[in-house]
Amino acid sequence: MKTGGALVLFSGGQDSTVCLAWALARYDRVETLGIDYGQRHAVELTQRRVVLDEIRSGFPEWSTRLGDDHEIDLKALGRISETALTRDAEIEMTAAGLPSTFVPGRNLLFLVYAAALAYRRSIGTLVAGMCETDYSGYPDCRDATIRAQQQAIALGLDKPFAIETPLMFIDKAETWALAGTLGGQPFVDLIREHTHTCYLGDRTHRHAWGWGCGTCPACELRARGWDAWQEADPPRNPPKS
Ligand code: ZN
Repeated sequence: MKTGGALVLFSGGQDSTVCLAWALARYDRVETLGIDYGQRHAVELTQRRVVLDEIRSGFPEWSTRLGDDHEIDLKALGRISETALTRDAEIEMTAAGLPSTFVPGRNLLFLVYAAALAYRRSIGTLVAGMCETDYSGYPDCRDATIRAQQQAIALGLDKPFAIETPLMFIDKAETWALAGTLGGQPFVDLIREHTHTCYLGDRTHRHAWGWGCGTCPACELRARGWDAWQEADPPRNPPKS
């Protein structure tokens, strides 16, 4: 068990929930951070509290290490971003070759705020769900970006500082498999039922992989990963519902 604690950037989505479990399996003390950046659908912020409650009640070994949850308001980011996540706009490819869901500077800002909070809480490690494998090419999800920022933060705070990104080089199917390895079927079921991924904020349609519209890029990615995991790993198939 690593000492010194970890602060997890925790949005309530599938990826950050797996990152939270990853941290809870490794660090003596784990705190969580949620950020309100004016995202179109506040359901994400609601679900993150539900997921934390479910972990506290259903996973006693983890709950002893799960500490404070923090939420900070970064709505200014939404006000300076014209994107499909912060405005009522179509999800499409932009002239820059990036999806309109790309919020410029989002992850860079999140990590700086998280580092400032971690510093105050005497925590030396951030854990975040950035992934460069199947993530639409968001430039702030690249490993090179994160490594450069880790160095900038460590210099700026004048102390050793780590940013762990356990999902960086795995795909969505492997993320489901990692969830199964970390917490077994109960944790996979928690992710299916309570984590939120859908860009449209849909929690009325239930699929084998969870709730969502089923057609936005985030739902498609989650569904494709689920299907690939089901095909690759039949012994861990949960019951259909
Ligand atoms: Zn969706």
